[in-house]
Amino acid sequence: MSPWWKKKVAGGICFHCKAKTKPSLLTMDHLLPLARGGKSSKDNIVPSCLACNQSKGLRTDQDQRLEDLFQLISGESQTSFQGDTEVNSKARTDEFQG
Ligand SMILES: [Zn+2]
Repeated sequence: MSPWWKKKVAGGICFHCKAKTKPSLLTMDHLLPLARGGKSSKDNIVPSCLACNQSKGLRTDQDQRLEDLFQLISGESQTSFQGDTEVNSKARTDEFQG
């Protein structure tokens, strides 16, 4: 284990979730994935706990952005669905009164 890495994990804090864990359980994680031009430099490597490392898996930042987008879309569609329901119920009321 390199001295600088030993120093980085000494606190046992995960860079992502800030959870405290055993230094030996922290793994090296690239801030900017190698697939996206990241380097295995000290500046680009952060300690990551097993949970964060596994949840991230082999996904890239791009995948994460897609997921965020999907969440955004599903959130928007929920809102518009509520709007439609309001319109529908109003239309039904008009129909009923008329
Ligand atoms: Zn973590």
